[in-house]
Amino acid sequence: MEDLIRQLLGQLGEDPGREGLVRTPQRVAKALKFLTGGYAADIDEVLNNALFTVDYNEMVIVKDIDFYSLCEHHLLPFFGKCHVAYIPRRKVIGLSKIPRLVDVFARRLQIQERLTNQIAETVREKIDPLGVAVVCEGTHLCMSMRGVEKQNSFAVTSAMLGAFHDNARTRMEFLELIRGRAAYSMGNTPGLACVGD
Ligand SMILES: [Zn+2]
Repeated sequence: MEDLIRQLLGQLGEDPGREGLVRTPQRVAKALKFLTGGYAADIDEVLNNALFTVDYNEMVIVKDIDFYSLCEHHLLPFFGKCHVAYIPRRKVIGLSKIPRLVDVFARRLQIQERLTNQIAETVREKIDPLGVAVVCEGTHLCMSMRGVEKQNSFAVTSAMLGAFHDNARTRMEFLELIRGRAAYSMGNTPGLACVGD
């Protein structure tokens, strides 16, 4: 990978041999491996012993989880906040594991819609809750830095499963709980990951 990055620097018109760039290929390779470390992660290992059986069926919500990801179209960052809620049927996930789960899927080449869905589907798969809701709010540098639709570089995506999909009151309760942070409002938020070439 380092040779490729060195070549790329040359093709961009740089001198890969100049002092500031000599070690850049190693740094970039290391950074990219970290930023895509989610591919190698094992979900069950991440959730290791943190699934508990409980007699509790009120909404569990974890708000304002920071995420950092890379847009798969441009390899530029998109980042923001993620809010995850679920209503347990029998099992819960240790609260500290939810941000870890978000990281596993964020540290891949992504589009925000898929990131949102993967988090929700994984919670559903692992604990079979009565419902799962995930809202992600992201700023996309591939849009803002390239000057594409500057005003729309902020995107909100959501995945509503089970009770959050079927029951408007449950969904509204969740959206109410994340409001103030989220610019989210129903019916006003088409998924909008990066657009343009
Ligand atoms: Zn992009």
